Amino acid sequence: MFRHAVLAAGPPPQPNAAQIALGLRKLGVAGSVLYVAAHPDDENTALLAYLANGALLRTGYLSVTRGDGGQNLIGSEQGPALGLIRTQELLAARRIDGAEQFFTRARDFGFSKSPDETLRIWDKEAVLADVVAVIRKFRPDVIVTRFSPEPAETHGHHTASAILALEAFHAAADPKFHPEQLGGGVGVWQARRIFWNRSSFFIKPTDDVSGDAKLDVDGFNPLLGESYGEMAADSRSMHKSQGFGVARTRTPIVEYFKLLASADPKEAAAGQPLGGILDGIDVTLRRFAGATRLRGLVDKAIAKFDPAAPSATVPALVAVDGALAEISDAGWRSEKQREVTSLLVACAGLFVDATAADYRAAPGTAVEVTATAVDRSPVPVTLDEVRFPFEANGHDVGHKLETPKQQGQLVSGAAVPFELKQSVKLPAELAPTTPYWLEAPPDAGLYHADPAFIGLAERASPVEVTFGFTIGGRKFTVARPVSYKWTDPVMGERYRPLEVTPAVSVRPEASVLMFPRGTVQTLTVHLVAGVPSATGVLRPEAPAGWTVEPASAPFTLGAVGNESAFTFHVRPNTAGGSAPASAVLRVVAEIGSARLSRGVVRIEHPHIPIQTYLVPSDVRLVPVDLAVAGKRIGYIPGPGDEVPASLRQVGYEVTILGDEALAAGAPALARFDAVVAGVRAFNTNERLRAAHAALMAYVDNGGTLVLQYNTNNRLAALTVPLGPWPFEIGQKRVTDETAAVSFAAPGSAALTTPNAIVPKDFEGWVQERGLYFAEKWDSHYETPLSMHDPGEPAQAGSLLWARHGKGTFVYTGLAFFRQLPAGVPGAYRLFANLLAGGHPRSP
Ligand SMILES: [Zn+2]
Repeated sequence: MFRHAVLAAGPPPQPNAAQIALGLRKLGVAGSVLYVAAHPDDENTALLAYLANGALLRTGYLSVTRGDGGQNLIGSEQGPALGLIRTQELLAARRIDGAEQFFTRARDFGFSKSPDETLRIWDKEAVLADVVAVIRKFRPDVIVTRFSPEPAETHGHHTASAILALEAFHAAADPKFHPEQLGGGVGVWQARRIFWNRSSFFIKPTDDVSGDAKLDVDGFNPLLGESYGEMAADSRSMHKSQGFGVARTRTPIVEYFKLLASADPKEAAAGQPLGGILDGIDVTLRRFAGATRLRGLVDKAIAKFDPAAPSATVPALVAVDGALAEISDAGWRSEKQREVTSLLVACAGLFVDATAADYRAAPGTAVEVTATAVDRSPVPVTLDEVRFPFEANGHDVGHKLETPKQQGQLVSGAAVPFELKQSVKLPAELAPTTPYWLEAPPDAGLYHADPAFIGLAERASPVEVTFGFTIGGRKFTVARPVSYKWTDPVMGERYRPLEVTPAVSVRPEASVLMFPRGTVQTLTVHLVAGVPSATGVLRPEAPAGWTVEPASAPFTLGAVGNESAFTFHVRPNTAGGSAPASAVLRVVAEIGSARLSRGVVRIEHPHIPIQTYLVPSDVRLVPVDLAVAGKRIGYIPGPGDEVPASLRQVGYEVTILGDEALAAGAPALARFDAVVAGVRAFNTNERLRAAHAALMAYVDNGGTLVLQYNTNNRLAALTVPLGPWPFEIGQKRVTDETAAVSFAAPGSAALTTPNAIVPKDFEGWVQERGLYFAEKWDSHYETPLSMHDPGEPAQAGSLLWARHGKGTFVYTGLAFFRQLPAGVPGAYRLFANLLAGGHPRSP
């Protein structure tokens, strides 16, 4: 129950007496449930909170993807970086609701309208094998899906997650299915049942739920002082990058479970009804025939527990530990061993920690590590051994930890912490820190990963200290990842994982450089030293057809952490008259014979531990035949908006408009050729709604206003007008980024001025064409484009264009926020036309 806290970058877990009491009760439970869905936020946190803290079952959530295809409401991270944030948000949610977290290698490639498309893009065989691997390792008694495996009006990933879970329910038990997963403690596994958890929002009045198993999951947990609905809300509110904060609930929450399959053919034939999802499954220690003495000892430990003196339970726990061998099942034996060790550390008031003197260290260099142990209870504890990272043998310590003075039952005087410091040299071949699924470039639908890590939310730190203790005559081992601990003057004490950094981080400022006709672009590369006195040569490797000057630059960086920026000039060779094809330039730092070509990126948000990942030092060079009319752009950013940087790269002068500029009204806007609002700007900026009159006056006076998509749904209803004439935003989207686009109004200025848009301009788009298209509009609007996903009717609402007074108003659901940062030339040409508002090219 405290396991996740150890993996996280936080202080070591220090459960209070109520949490210990709950942990003791959990010792007597040996049952497990695995919940399966597609994305971070799909999981039923109320059910997870109830199962983990009420039923005290081992509870897991397998999210097939990491949510990397979504939109980010708290920063500019997209794609894999967003998946990394969402992984940590799920771990943060699990620390609240007490479940464990798993993933497959599947990528969230964006919205999908069918499970068939989803399974084809993911590589069904590979993802099914990953679901099976998680089932074989977690060994659930019962599997629960969030979605139906039958076709439904929902995201294709959702239905696909249920199809995979149902197939995996059978395949995990088949010794011929991926036999390479078997061995080393992993065997085949047949879960007893699999259910579809249909919640109230899925149940139509016409659905018959009389046969479903039912469960009210909003109980109150008096030890924790919270209901499962309250825990669920706190857990769900960790999905901050999706803006999913929710209120705590205190009403009954009835969950429905429809049996999808059972290992018992009779039960499968009867279909239902079952009283509960675990009916007839013994989830106590009685399931292990020989565990009679153990059961008695656990009961005794629970009965004797005194919240004012948890240390009095230590002898009982030591006895429980001695009887764990009665558990015939190796998996449950080691699970209970982990629980007992955590409880012992908690009851003995032990604080065990391993910290480094710096937050980073490069392979081949040394970092000072401090191992700390303090006994805050009257229980005598001996620290026998401390083993620092990468050491074959531990240090014999044989130290009796001092115990605090006692006054009645409460501890009144502090004990002196025991500390041992050691300079730890990281092996030269140790891989720098990056998430295991980002080590190799991914396929369209699948990340690659070392088989040892498949299923894990994150890999455990390779740099950890193990402590050997003797408590009550028995030996216990406690491991701690090495963290860096510091004091932030505002936040107080903070922890972060120790980072293994490359000798030099090589990071180009932009991953894409656009080259409008005849331009030379500046490439800026940032180097950060991971080792002292890094000296070498920085060399941009120019692809064929491109020239980079200078050809190389020598560098000397000095102390660890020193940064230097280098600039190069890049231009396409146009000697033959035509521009070269787009190409990838790699920037390499050469130090002796070593060639370094990755940069360190850090993600910092207050609700998750600091994350580090490596990106290749590659820059895509993209020529674009771009004509621009009117360069002065006023930009009202949406959350994490990268469009302004993209526009600047192709020569626009972009001014970010804050609340003050908007409050100043139309006269302050008059100097701009166009004003642009980023995605969701009206959803997230209340003041923008008040600026509508000023924006319309600006258009009336000859300006161009371009609004990118906003959402209009239950959670974020738009109650203000956006344009000069009415239009409604709906839920329509075109998710196939290759969907054909037809020109419904070929003569529209949007398609002709100043760039003549041709079908080729819709090639190379990424993830999707667009989303939140307009669904109804006034006849003043022109709709120049039409497109649709395969098998669907044509959609005209991706682009609305209207003249108003002397100016132009544009609404577009086209996903420019993805295409421009990704360097899609056609998207730049079309966006330039929207900004031009019908004006021909500037002189
Ligand atoms: Zn979902």
